[in-house]
Amino acid sequence: MEPSKRHPRWAEVAPEQWNDWRWQVSHSLKNADDLADFMQCSEGQREEVRRLSRNFRFALTPYYASLIDLNDPDDPVGLQAFPQSMELVSAPEEEQDHIGEEHYSPVKRIVHRYPDRVLFILTEQCSFYCRFCTRRRIVGGGMHGEYLDEIQEAITYIAETPQIRDVLISGGDPFVYADEKLEGVLAKLRAIEHVEIIRFGTRVPVVIPMRITSELCSMLRKYHPIYVNTHFNHPREITPESAAACARLADAGMPLGNQTVLMRGVNDCPVVMKKLVHELLKIRVRPYYLYQADLAPGTKHFRAPISKGIEIIESLRGHTTGFAVPNFVVDMVGGGGKVPIAPNYVVSQAPGKWVLRNFEGFMSTYTEPDDYEDRCPEKCGASHATPSTNGKVQSVASLLRSRAPAMKAKGRQQTAAAARVRAVRQGT
Ligand code: SF4
Repeated sequence: MEPSKRHPRWAEVAPEQWNDWRWQVSHSLKNADDLADFMQCSEGQREEVRRLSRNFRFALTPYYASLIDLNDPDDPVGLQAFPQSMELVSAPEEEQDHIGEEHYSPVKRIVHRYPDRVLFILTEQCSFYCRFCTRRRIVGGGMHGEYLDEIQEAITYIAETPQIRDVLISGGDPFVYADEKLEGVLAKLRAIEHVEIIRFGTRVPVVIPMRITSELCSMLRKYHPIYVNTHFNHPREITPESAAACARLADAGMPLGNQTVLMRGVNDCPVVMKKLVHELLKIRVRPYYLYQADLAPGTKHFRAPISKGIEIIESLRGHTTGFAVPNFVVDMVGGGGKVPIAPNYVVSQAPGKWVLRNFEGFMSTYTEPDDYEDRCPEKCGASHATPSTNGKVQSVASLLRSRAPAMKAKGRQQTAAAARVRAVRQGT
């Protein structure tokens, strides 16, 4: 397949350099004037870019910059890359830590929101800084300075917390880490018996696909099971280069998923989204999440209504391959975690009977068995329902299984996850 077209600025670069991720990193557009030159800004716009650079970090790889159509001010790739003055304005509902990650951080670099898994923020660095980033409060180096001790402390927390069976390494972008350093972290995590799976969240295959080298893949495959979640937002980001990067990961045995952020002007259209999910499946990446854009400061211009996400899912479910349809989720403000939102397919119900509708509007009934007894095949009674360590009802699932008639809404301060975080912080 023909490689993607390059911007004339880099037309003469030798292929060995262009395809070397280190060259891409060292030639990224990182300062305001470089970026303003590339964007062909007027003097006034240049001043604006300079002003923005004081608040938010820039980095735009030559590869990703070449995907932008500079003649189109509404180019969906350019919108994700070029800073806009709206970023300096925060809407009243926007907050730095809008999804409450810090509240669930027992030690630096760990977010322990859910019972059996953690987010491990390995680095604040990215090879490209997305204008819509939900962690813009920390990416680009704003979180901490020297951090090897923090990484060790995070690994120790995981090792000392036996309920953690799943570690999601994200950031920042963990694949900006050099292979040897990444391997050091993976080896330590793999040595922890209760860590069953390791996942990566990365935008590298999209913005600097040459970083997915065969050496990186050979190293990663030593630590299976490893899953990789990519972050494609628009079909134009799927190029021969990004497809090859995903193929290298998939060939090395890593199941690939994708998370897309629903963004105004970028992908808030059923046609664009259908094309994206089809193109993803062609490169062996399964659409996993469609995220409602978070309430990160200065990102209102990217946000579309939740109803647009429902409309998109409605346009996909039944109209295309079932596993091409991502889960549409909203990450709740205040640390509530992700909640799935979907069109309603239940039209009505009565004891023993459901009325359902399909994607065409066709309705039919489902009759439930009238002789069903709720007996677990494992004969474990209610204990498998959900992690109710102290016998208290802690979730809707445990409410369904327990004899308790109600669950007291105690607020997030008193959830099990928050209690764990408090205990670690207090050293108990
Ligand atoms: S790669 Fe991820 S963490 Fe980095 S700026 Fe983009 S969205 Fe944020």
